[in-house]
Amino acid sequence: MHSTTGRTRALLAEIDRIAAACGRARGSVTLVGVAKTHPASAVREAWAGGLRHVGESYLQEAVPKIAALADLPLTWHFVGRIQANKTAAIARHFDWVHAVDRIRVAERLSAQRPAERPPLECCLEVNLGGEPSKGGVTPAELSALADAVAGLPGLRLRGLMTLPEAIADPAAQRAPFAALAELLAGLRDRHPGMDTLSMGMSGDMEAAIIEGATMVRIGTALFGAREAGRN
Ligand SMILES: *Cc1c(COP(=O)(O)O)cnc(C)c1O
Repeated sequence: MHSTTGRTRALLAEIDRIAAACGRARGSVTLVGVAKTHPASAVREAWAGGLRHVGESYLQEAVPKIAALADLPLTWHFVGRIQANKTAAIARHFDWVHAVDRIRVAERLSAQRPAERPPLECCLEVNLGGEPSKGGVTPAELSALADAVAGLPGLRLRGLMTLPEAIADPAAQRAPFAALAELLAGLRDRHPGMDTLSMGMSGDMEAAIIEGATMVRIGTALFGAREAGRN
């Protein structure tokens, strides 16, 4: 099966297989299909295969897609970097944000969340490798950001997200995911509502699930390759 519908079914089965193989419950890992650069029709095909959570990184293309798919009960995740001038639209159109890494952005998202919607589900991005080109707070900055976000009425602090550098060796892929899981465990005493580890993409999904991912963000393996230069 090479259709998006078929790939979605196969990927959901693969996630269940990996989870079961490491003693985790069926359904404990949510597939977020990252549809950036792919059209609404592709998301509709993935829906037919069982996809219920969709990730986007580019606001301008996401908003019309969300409108085009309003007949489907999908949960929408903003997984990209959050620019301060985009927070109002993100707060209006999305159910989840994965990459909160600044108090100022969190405050804006909270203030701009429409009153008729539930709080925006929110993960904090951690930059484990100290890569300056990427977003995310350092582990040392994390607990102050968690405390600040937990106090914002328009947000619900749900967990942590990371985007490690691409590593080909599956054994070596596990270290940053294990580190993120440890950081979450360290925060849960103060923030028991933090139950989410958003980690794992097409190239490192299995390593992430082994280390406790509760959400994997999969683009290429589900929707196919993106145009060069669009990450
Ligand atoms: C694009 C993207 C993904 C999906 O990456 P693939 O390697 O195509 O699976 C996941 N997370 C974020 C934050 C992304 O920007």
